[in-house]
Amino acid sequence: KASKNQTRFYSSKLAKAVQEKLHVVELLKNAMLKDEFYLVFMPVYGPTGSNITGAEALIRTHNDALSSYTPDIYIPIAEEHGLIHQLDEMVIRKAFKTLKQSALNHTDTFSLAVNISSQQLKNKHFATMAHKMALEEGVDPRQIEFELTETALVDFDQTSIDIIKQTKAYGFSVALDDFGTGYTAFSQLRNFPVDTLKIDRSFTSNIDNSGIDQGKMVDVILSLAHLYNLNVVAEGVENSQQLDYLKHRQCDSYQGYYLSKPISWSTMIALIEEKRQ
Ligand code: C2E
Ligand code: CA
Ligand code: CA
Ligand code: CA
Repeated sequence: KASKNQTRFYSSKLAKAVQEKLHVVELLKNAMLKDEFYLVFMPVYGPTGSNITGAEALIRTHNDALSSYTPDIYIPIAEEHGLIHQLDEMVIRKAFKTLKQSALNHTDTFSLAVNISSQQLKNKHFATMAHKMALEEGVDPRQIEFELTETALVDFDQTSIDIIKQTKAYGFSVALDDFGTGYTAFSQLRNFPVDTLKIDRSFTSNIDNSGIDQGKMVDVILSLAHLYNLNVVAEGVENSQQLDYLKHRQCDSYQGYYLSKPISWSTMIALIEEKRQ
Protein backbone atom coordinates (compact mmCIF):
# COMPACT_ATOMS: atom_id res chain seq x y z
CA LYS A 1 0.00 0.00 0.00
CA ALA A 2 2.95 2.30 -0.37
CA SER A 3 2.61 5.51 -2.30
CA LYS A 4 3.99 5.68 -5.82
CA ASN A 5 7.03 7.52 -4.59
CA GLN A 6 7.84 4.95 -1.92
CA THR A 7 7.51 2.09 -4.40
CA ARG A 8 9.82 3.77 -6.81
CA PHE A 9 12.40 4.38 -4.05
CA TYR A 10 12.37 0.71 -2.98
CA SER A 11 12.74 -0.71 -6.47
CA SER A 12 15.55 1.67 -7.36
CA LYS A 13 17.41 0.48 -4.26
CA LEU A 14 16.86 -3.11 -5.31
CA ALA A 15 17.95 -2.35 -8.86
CA LYS A 16 21.10 -0.77 -7.47
CA ALA A 17 21.92 -3.90 -5.46
CA VAL A 18 21.40 -6.12 -8.52
CA GLN A 19 23.56 -3.79 -10.57
CA GLU A 20 26.33 -3.88 -8.01
CA LYS A 21 26.26 -7.71 -7.98
CA LEU A 22 26.56 -7.80 -11.76
CA HIS A 23 29.43 -5.35 -11.48
CA VAL A 24 31.20 -7.75 -9.07
CA VAL A 25 30.53 -10.64 -11.49
CA GLU A 26 32.27 -8.68 -14.25
CA LEU A 27 35.18 -7.86 -11.93
CA LEU A 28 35.51 -11.53 -10.97
CA LYS A 29 35.50 -12.70 -14.60
CA ASN A 30 38.12 -10.14 -15.55
CA ALA A 31 40.33 -10.83 -12.56
CA MET A 32 40.25 -14.56 -13.36
CA LEU A 33 41.14 -13.92 -17.01
CA LYS A 34 44.04 -11.68 -16.02
CA ASP A 35 45.16 -13.97 -13.19
CA GLU A 36 44.83 -11.22 -10.58
CA PHE A 37 44.34 -13.50 -7.59
CA TYR A 38 46.88 -14.71 -5.07
CA LEU A 39 46.83 -16.55 -1.77
CA VAL A 40 47.78 -15.55 1.76
CA PHE A 41 48.25 -18.09 4.53
CA MET A 42 46.86 -18.17 8.02
CA PRO A 43 49.21 -20.26 10.19
CA VAL A 44 47.69 -23.11 12.21
CA TYR A 45 49.33 -23.86 15.56
CA GLY A 46 49.54 -27.30 17.22
CA PRO A 47 48.40 -28.40 20.72
CA THR A 48 50.97 -26.34 22.64
CA GLY A 49 50.05 -23.21 20.73
CA SER A 50 53.68 -22.52 19.90
CA ASN A 51 54.50 -24.53 16.73
CA ILE A 52 53.12 -23.98 13.28
CA THR A 53 51.76 -27.31 12.04
CA GLY A 54 49.93 -26.08 8.98
CA ALA A 55 48.23 -23.17 7.27
CA GLU A 56 44.93 -22.22 5.69
CA ALA A 57 45.06 -20.66 2.22
CA LEU A 58 42.87 -17.55 1.83
CA ILE A 59 42.13 -15.82 -1.47
CA ARG A 60 43.15 -12.20 -2.17
CA THR A 61 43.18 -10.05 -5.30
CA HIS A 62 45.54 -7.49 -6.86
CA ASN A 63 42.61 -5.99 -8.75
CA ASP A 64 41.94 -2.57 -7.18
CA ALA A 65 38.23 -2.46 -7.96
CA LEU A 66 37.61 -6.01 -6.72
CA SER A 67 39.76 -5.57 -3.62
CA SER A 68 37.24 -3.11 -2.21
CA TYR A 69 35.11 -6.24 -1.62
CA THR A 70 36.07 -9.00 0.84
CA PRO A 71 35.97 -12.73 0.02
CA ASP A 72 32.90 -12.97 2.27
CA ILE A 73 31.13 -10.78 -0.32
CA TYR A 74 32.53 -12.03 -3.63
CA ILE A 75 32.72 -15.79 -2.95
CA PRO A 76 28.90 -16.08 -2.53
CA ILE A 77 28.48 -13.99 -5.71
CA ALA A 78 30.83 -16.36 -7.56
CA GLU A 79 28.69 -19.24 -6.26
CA GLU A 80 25.45 -17.64 -7.46
CA HIS A 81 26.78 -16.86 -10.91
CA GLY A 82 28.41 -20.13 -11.93
CA LEU A 83 31.99 -18.97 -11.40
CA ILE A 84 32.85 -20.98 -8.31
CA HIS A 85 34.09 -24.16 -9.99
CA GLN A 86 36.65 -22.20 -11.96
CA LEU A 87 37.59 -20.14 -8.89
CA ASP A 88 37.99 -23.18 -6.61
CA GLU A 89 40.14 -24.96 -9.21
CA MET A 90 42.31 -21.88 -9.56
CA VAL A 91 42.79 -21.67 -5.76
CA ILE A 92 43.57 -25.39 -5.46
CA ARG A 93 46.14 -25.14 -8.28
CA LYS A 94 47.81 -22.09 -6.68
CA ALA A 95 47.87 -23.78 -3.26
CA PHE A 96 49.45 -26.95 -4.67
CA LYS A 97 52.06 -24.95 -6.64
CA THR A 98 53.00 -22.99 -3.52
CA LEU A 99 53.47 -26.13 -1.43
CA LYS A 100 55.36 -27.88 -4.23
CA GLN A 101 57.91 -25.04 -4.47
CA SER A 102 58.84 -25.22 -0.79
CA ALA A 103 60.83 -27.43 1.54
CA LEU A 104 57.56 -28.25 3.33
CA ASN A 105 56.46 -30.41 0.40
CA HIS A 106 56.52 -34.13 1.24
CA THR A 107 56.97 -33.61 4.98
CA ASP A 108 54.61 -35.02 7.59
CA THR A 109 54.90 -32.00 9.88
CA PHE A 110 52.86 -29.57 7.80
CA SER A 111 49.36 -29.68 6.37
CA LEU A 112 47.76 -27.18 4.04
CA ALA A 113 44.04 -26.35 4.27
CA VAL A 114 42.19 -25.14 1.17
CA ASN A 115 38.65 -23.69 1.27
CA ILE A 116 36.21 -25.04 -1.28
CA SER A 117 32.61 -24.12 -1.92
CA SER A 118 29.93 -26.43 -0.59
CA GLN A 119 28.76 -26.63 -4.21
CA GLN A 120 31.61 -29.09 -4.79
CA LEU A 121 29.50 -31.60 -2.85
CA LYS A 122 27.28 -31.75 -5.93
CA ASN A 123 30.22 -31.99 -8.34
CA LYS A 124 30.86 -35.66 -9.12
CA HIS A 125 34.19 -34.78 -10.74
CA PHE A 126 35.59 -32.94 -7.73
CA ALA A 127 37.66 -35.78 -6.24
CA THR A 128 39.19 -36.90 -9.55
CA MET A 129 39.94 -33.27 -10.47
CA ALA A 130 41.76 -32.69 -7.14
CA HIS A 131 43.63 -35.98 -7.44
CA LYS A 132 44.70 -35.27 -11.01
CA MET A 133 45.91 -31.82 -9.99
CA ALA A 134 47.91 -33.24 -7.07
CA LEU A 135 49.62 -35.63 -9.49
CA GLU A 136 50.30 -32.86 -12.01
CA GLU A 137 51.71 -30.49 -9.40
CA GLY A 138 53.59 -33.14 -7.44
CA VAL A 139 52.01 -32.81 -4.00
CA ASP A 140 50.89 -35.57 -1.66
CA PRO A 141 47.11 -35.50 -0.95
CA ARG A 142 47.89 -36.55 2.63
CA GLN A 143 49.26 -33.03 3.20
CA ILE A 144 46.04 -31.38 1.97
CA GLU A 145 42.79 -30.75 3.84
CA PHE A 146 39.71 -29.36 2.09
CA GLU A 147 37.47 -27.10 4.20
CA LEU A 148 33.75 -27.11 3.58
CA THR A 149 31.37 -24.76 5.35
CA GLU A 150 28.93 -26.50 7.59
CA THR A 151 25.88 -24.95 5.90
CA ALA A 152 26.66 -27.39 3.08
CA LEU A 153 25.16 -30.10 5.26
CA VAL A 154 21.70 -28.63 5.23
CA ASP A 155 20.93 -30.50 2.06
CA PHE A 156 23.55 -33.22 2.30
CA ASP A 157 22.54 -36.50 0.75
CA GLN A 158 24.12 -39.75 -0.41
CA THR A 159 25.80 -37.97 -3.34
CA SER A 160 27.64 -35.55 -1.06
CA ILE A 161 28.70 -38.37 1.28
CA ASP A 162 30.03 -40.31 -1.72
CA ILE A 163 31.99 -37.28 -2.95
CA ILE A 164 33.59 -36.83 0.47
CA LYS A 165 34.43 -40.54 0.68
CA GLN A 166 35.95 -40.49 -2.80
CA THR A 167 38.02 -37.39 -1.91
CA LYS A 168 39.27 -39.14 1.23
CA ALA A 169 40.02 -42.34 -0.69
CA TYR A 170 42.62 -40.35 -2.66
CA GLY A 171 44.28 -39.41 0.64
CA PHE A 172 42.94 -35.89 1.16
CA SER A 173 41.39 -34.89 4.50
CA VAL A 174 38.11 -33.04 4.85
CA ALA A 175 37.17 -30.47 7.50
CA LEU A 176 33.82 -28.93 8.42
CA ASP A 177 34.35 -25.16 8.59
CA ASP A 178 32.43 -22.72 10.82
CA PHE A 179 31.14 -25.68 12.81
CA GLY A 180 28.24 -24.87 15.10
CA THR A 181 26.80 -22.09 12.95
CA GLY A 182 24.93 -24.34 10.52
CA TYR A 183 22.12 -26.72 11.14
CA THR A 184 23.79 -30.11 11.34
CA ALA A 185 22.07 -32.28 13.89
CA PHE A 186 24.94 -33.42 16.05
CA SER A 187 23.79 -37.02 15.47
CA GLN A 188 24.35 -36.61 11.70
CA LEU A 189 28.07 -36.27 12.32
CA ARG A 190 28.28 -40.00 12.91
CA ASN A 191 27.37 -40.61 9.26
CA PHE A 192 29.41 -37.76 7.89
CA PRO A 193 32.93 -38.92 7.08
CA VAL A 194 34.97 -35.80 7.97
CA ASP A 195 38.32 -35.68 9.76
CA THR A 196 38.20 -32.26 11.38
CA LEU A 197 35.77 -29.79 12.94
CA LYS A 198 36.65 -26.11 12.89
CA ILE A 199 35.02 -24.25 15.77
CA ASP A 200 33.58 -21.01 14.46
CA ARG A 201 35.09 -17.74 15.64
CA SER A 202 31.83 -16.67 17.30
CA PHE A 203 32.18 -19.51 19.86
CA THR A 204 35.85 -18.80 20.52
CA SER A 205 35.04 -15.16 21.22
CA ASN A 206 32.35 -16.20 23.70
CA ILE A 207 35.00 -17.81 25.92
CA ASP A 208 35.79 -14.48 27.56
CA ASN A 209 32.51 -12.69 26.97
CA SER A 210 30.03 -12.51 29.80
CA GLY A 211 27.24 -13.99 27.64
CA ILE A 212 25.25 -16.96 28.95
CA ASP A 213 27.18 -19.60 27.04
CA GLN A 214 30.66 -18.34 28.10
CA GLY A 215 32.70 -21.07 26.45
CA LYS A 216 30.07 -23.75 26.97
CA MET A 217 29.48 -24.24 23.24
CA VAL A 218 33.22 -24.78 22.85
CA ASP A 219 33.04 -27.47 25.55
CA VAL A 220 30.11 -29.17 23.81
CA ILE A 221 31.82 -29.16 20.42
CA LEU A 222 35.05 -30.50 21.93
CA SER A 223 33.30 -33.40 23.70
CA LEU A 224 31.39 -34.21 20.53
CA ALA A 225 34.60 -34.20 18.48
CA HIS A 226 36.38 -36.40 21.01
CA LEU A 227 33.42 -38.80 21.00
CA TYR A 228 33.71 -39.26 17.23
CA ASN A 229 37.53 -39.11 17.23
CA LEU A 230 37.68 -35.95 15.16
CA ASN A 231 40.39 -33.32 15.10
CA VAL A 232 39.35 -29.90 16.38
CA VAL A 233 40.72 -26.58 15.20
CA ALA A 234 39.62 -23.46 17.07
CA GLU A 235 39.31 -20.41 14.84
CA GLY A 236 39.49 -16.75 15.77
CA VAL A 237 41.75 -16.97 18.84
CA GLU A 238 42.30 -13.32 19.66
CA ASN A 239 43.83 -13.34 23.17
CA SER A 240 45.80 -15.46 25.64
CA GLN A 241 42.74 -16.12 27.80
CA GLN A 242 40.99 -17.88 24.92
CA LEU A 243 44.12 -19.85 24.03
CA ASP A 244 44.62 -21.02 27.63
CA TYR A 245 41.00 -22.09 27.94
CA LEU A 246 41.23 -24.14 24.73
CA LYS A 247 44.58 -25.68 25.68
CA HIS A 248 43.16 -26.91 28.98
CA ARG A 249 40.38 -28.66 27.09
CA GLN A 250 42.55 -30.62 24.70
CA CYS A 251 41.84 -28.72 21.55
CA ASP A 252 44.14 -30.02 18.77
CA SER A 253 45.00 -26.81 16.89
CA TYR A 254 44.43 -23.07 16.93
CA GLN A 255 44.41 -20.13 14.58
CA GLY A 256 43.60 -16.48 15.06
CA TYR A 257 44.93 -12.95 15.14
CA TYR A 258 46.52 -13.51 18.57
CA LEU A 259 48.82 -16.13 17.01
CA SER A 260 49.18 -14.71 13.51
CA LYS A 261 47.25 -12.78 10.90
CA PRO A 262 47.13 -14.13 7.34
CA ILE A 263 50.63 -13.63 5.85
CA SER A 264 52.54 -14.40 2.68
CA TRP A 265 53.97 -17.88 2.21
CA SER A 266 57.56 -16.61 2.48
CA THR A 267 56.81 -14.74 5.72
CA MET A 268 55.33 -17.92 7.12
CA ILE A 269 58.36 -19.99 6.10
CA ALA A 270 60.60 -17.45 7.86
CA LEU A 271 58.41 -17.73 10.99
CA ILE A 272 58.68 -21.53 10.98
CA GLU A 273 62.47 -21.38 10.57
CA GLU A 274 62.78 -18.77 13.32
CA LYS A 275 60.92 -21.06 15.74
CA ARG A 276 63.14 -24.02 14.89
CA GLN A 277 66.25 -22.16 16.08
P1 C2E B 1 36.76 -18.80 6.71
O1 C2E B 1 37.20 -19.99 5.90
O2 C2E B 1 35.98 -19.06 7.95
O3 C2E B 1 38.10 -18.00 6.97
C1 C2E B 1 38.36 -17.28 8.16
C2 C2E B 1 38.19 -15.80 7.95
O4 C2E B 1 38.26 -15.14 9.22
C3 C2E B 1 39.28 -15.16 7.09
O5 C2E B 1 38.73 -14.02 6.44
C4 C2E B 1 40.31 -14.74 8.14
O6 C2E B 1 41.16 -13.70 7.73
C5 C2E B 1 39.41 -14.31 9.29
N1 C2E B 1 40.04 -14.52 10.60
C6 C2E B 1 40.86 -15.53 10.95
N2 C2E B 1 41.25 -15.40 12.24
C7 C2E B 1 40.64 -14.31 12.74
C8 C2E B 1 40.63 -13.67 14.03
O7 C2E B 1 41.29 -14.08 15.00
N3 C2E B 1 39.85 -12.56 14.16
C9 C2E B 1 39.12 -12.05 13.14
N4 C2E B 1 38.39 -10.96 13.36
N5 C2E B 1 39.11 -12.64 11.90
C10 C2E B 1 39.85 -13.74 11.70
P2 C2E B 1 38.75 -13.89 4.85
O8 C2E B 1 40.09 -14.21 4.31
O9 C2E B 1 38.15 -12.55 4.54
O10 C2E B 1 37.77 -15.03 4.33
C11 C2E B 1 36.39 -14.97 4.54
C12 C2E B 1 35.69 -16.21 4.02
O11 C2E B 1 35.77 -16.29 2.58
C13 C2E B 1 36.35 -17.51 4.50
O12 C2E B 1 35.88 -17.82 5.79
C14 C2E B 1 35.89 -18.49 3.44
O13 C2E B 1 34.57 -18.96 3.70
C15 C2E B 1 35.87 -17.65 2.18
N6 C2E B 1 37.14 -17.86 1.44
C16 C2E B 1 38.36 -17.27 1.65
N7 C2E B 1 39.27 -17.72 0.75
C17 C2E B 1 38.63 -18.65 -0.02
C18 C2E B 1 39.03 -19.49 -1.13
O14 C2E B 1 40.19 -19.50 -1.56
N8 C2E B 1 38.07 -20.30 -1.70
C19 C2E B 1 36.77 -20.34 -1.23
N9 C2E B 1 35.90 -21.16 -1.84
N10 C2E B 1 36.37 -19.57 -0.17
C20 C2E B 1 37.28 -18.74 0.42
CA1 CA C 1 38.07 -21.91 6.24
CA1 CA D 1 35.83 -20.67 9.36
CA1 CA E 1 33.57 -18.23 7.45
